[in-house]
Amino acid sequence: MGLQQQRESRMKILVTGGAGFLGSHLCDRLLAQGHDVVCLDNLFTGAKSNVAHLIGHPRFEWVRHDVTDPFKFEVDRIYNLACPASPPHYQFNPIKTVKTSVLGAIHCLGLAKRVGARVFQASTSEVYGDPAVHPQPESYWGHVNPIGIRSCYDEGKRVAETLFMDYHRQNGVDIRIVRIFNTYGPRMNPNDGRVVSNFIVEALKGEDITIYGDGSQTRSFCYVDDLVEGFVRFMEHEGFTGPMNLGNPGEFTMLQLAEHVVRLTGSRSRIAFKPLPADDPRQRQPDIGLARRTLGWEPKVGLDEGLTRTIEYFRSII
Ligand code: NAD
Ligand code: UDP
Repeated sequence: MGLQQQRESRMKILVTGGAGFLGSHLCDRLLAQGHDVVCLDNLFTGAKSNVAHLIGHPRFEWVRHDVTDPFKFEVDRIYNLACPASPPHYQFNPIKTVKTSVLGAIHCLGLAKRVGARVFQASTSEVYGDPAVHPQPESYWGHVNPIGIRSCYDEGKRVAETLFMDYHRQNGVDIRIVRIFNTYGPRMNPNDGRVVSNFIVEALKGEDITIYGDGSQTRSFCYVDDLVEGFVRFMEHEGFTGPMNLGNPGEFTMLQLAEHVVRLTGSRSRIAFKPLPADDPRQRQPDIGLARRTLGWEPKVGLDEGLTRTIEYFRSII
């Protein structure tokens, strides 16, 4: 690539929630592509250690800030990932979770409008709630409880999607909306509360693996590298706003997941059952036909391979 071409393709990119699990992998990827990255995070669920290896990098800038307060940066791209993602964390202060989703979206969209940046929203499969349609295509409007304990997250993300579409229609803001299905990998917070990290940490410590309910509920798990590949392809794909599902269609019950983790860790942990939290979706599997057709994207890392890499990470930090 010539110098001129490099200058043209080198962008300044803001990643909100950049010190989180997905955000830190995205920062790595964007820096590796030669871009300048501003990582903004209030460290509620993220950690400086996730980006410690980037501090001092000449194209990396770290900003401690809360997206519920306005911010200004001269950027070409904004990835809006700031929001706690695990149920215990987003339920810890549900009002703050709604503010983070809604005000965070408004501040990102306002900035994108002012500086002419393209802006990407990390939405979620939770917009489908406890789905009555299976697998879930983007055309499905969902089955969401508006007043339950998961609503702060689900409805917050739904309003954010609404704001993205309205800024696009009303102000011509260039948007991308991705609906992320359960994603796992290294740098998940060991105390995060999500199922993959909980099971691995319990297995490595030889503690009981706690399944909520009878373990027959399903999820589809995507390895982080596959997801980040989908993010950057979608962001740079011209002329399509989404929403677009990204995830791995391989669907497993929580009992099956526990068995995989026990086998791959060689743990002697036993399985213990706890009550199922309210509104816990029964089943979830992405229909990724749209991403396949539009981006030529599909996940490459299977569950055993992804879990093995994730287990290695947790072994190194526990
Ligand atoms: P995470 O908790 O590791 O990352 C979220 C980051 O946002 C953290 O670093 C946190 O400190 C930061 N943050 C939270 N509130 C903030 C605020 N008010 N201001 C600034 N920063 C704030 O979770 P993750 O899995 O990396 O999720 C990233 C994004 O992807 C989230 O928006 C989440 O809703 C979405 N998502 C993730 C998944 C998944 O399976 N990992 C699935 C669906 C959607
Ligand atoms: N879950 C579980 N044990 C745990 C954590 C979660 O059985 O230690 C279950 C949870 O009830 C849900 C599934 O695993 O049915 C996925 O939970 P997670 O919080 O990871 O994601 P989400 O429910 O938001 O998809």
